[in-house]
Amino acid sequence: MKILFLDQSGKPGGAELCLIDIAKPYRDSCLVGLFADGTFRDLLEQQQIPVQVLTTQSLAIRKESSLVQGLGSIGQLIPLIARVVKTASKYDLIYANTQKALVVGALASFFSRRPLVYHLHDILSTEHFSSTNLRLAVTLANRFASLVIANSQAAKAAFVAAGGKPEIIEVVYNGFASEKYLAEESSLNHLRQNLGLDGQFVVGHFSRLSPWKGQHILLEALAHCPDDVTAILVGDALFGEQDYVEHLHKQVAKLGLEQRVRFLGFRSDIVSLMTACDLIAHTSTAPEPFGRVIVEAMLCGKPVVAAEAGGAIELVETGKTGWLVTPGNPQQLAEVITTCRQQPEYVATIAKESQRQASQRFNLTNINQQINQLLGNLYSALPCNELQQADKSPPF
Ligand code: UDP
Repeated sequence: MKILFLDQSGKPGGAELCLIDIAKPYRDSCLVGLFADGTFRDLLEQQQIPVQVLTTQSLAIRKESSLVQGLGSIGQLIPLIARVVKTASKYDLIYANTQKALVVGALASFFSRRPLVYHLHDILSTEHFSSTNLRLAVTLANRFASLVIANSQAAKAAFVAAGGKPEIIEVVYNGFASEKYLAEESSLNHLRQNLGLDGQFVVGHFSRLSPWKGQHILLEALAHCPDDVTAILVGDALFGEQDYVEHLHKQVAKLGLEQRVRFLGFRSDIVSLMTACDLIAHTSTAPEPFGRVIVEAMLCGKPVVAAEAGGAIELVETGKTGWLVTPGNPQQLAEVITTCRQQPEYVATIAKESQRQASQRFNLTNINQQINQLLGNLYSALPCNELQQADKSPPF
């Protein structure tokens, strides 16, 4: 099965990191087409996954774009769609991994007569999207996708609630190779020393800096915690949220937390950093579609406190595999952090159980098999001469 994967981003967010794991088993016969260049391309190349940047123009449409702004970008889209149609004629199916990839992939699927799969990594609600974009995503998926893969029950429920067809959507969680999440103990002391974290109770936050990821909630909570509680914020503003970054720095100064907060920027040594923490906090203020960082923390054997909404509810069970707190509630978060600091043995038991469960539930080999089976079913259901017919008459 030859797959043309499409993704709009040049930067590695959660959807892109997930795509690396999905595309890798198909690397001898697939292509990942990107709508922007950047470090995501480097990561694909490091894994020997064929990749091509399909346009050098950055697409002006954003999640919150209105109809008028969306229409304004049509001039940019036409050459890109034409290129994808031409490329798709060499592949058996189109796999759109993001929303802009769905727009391009849907039209390319129509013209190239290739089936379309849409991997939904979003909660399609007005908290995350303009109503125009939401309607567009659901309409295109309903009309053109043979299969939608949702990354959580929460993402599936939002899709159906927004009018998506329930019969075309399946839930497949992100997969993780658990052996990659075991850090060398010997390097950890060194890392903690280098970061000036010795003798501190370290709370890690691993996420791009963006208002809905709620780093400000952790900072507010920190002000209510004992003085030896320190936070590291790992991640950068990937999609231009510079105002929020400034706001966070001002908040640190206002709360007098300069000695207790470190901004580490985007890092690739997530496993070492997580393992160097005592607790990982997830603080999204809007429902998280899945929450890779939650599973990664579990696999690192670290306790997690997460905001009780969206996919996080499917990942964490309070008192068994971590703690869930009300989104946007710093007081409650501070209470959990303080309890965790006071009860290290109880917390370690929970972390161990969550590590055991996560390595089973999110086993990469099993998840890849589920995806392979879904794609295989789709492929074998195609009329056997359809692809050959289409090969003879590419529309561009
Ligand atoms: N991440 C990273 N470096 C950073 C911050 C985050 O590699 O500095 C990774 C993190 O480990 C996770 C992904 O980015 O795998 C974020 O995925 P998640 O589902 O948590 O959020 P998203 O970015 O998809 O909203």
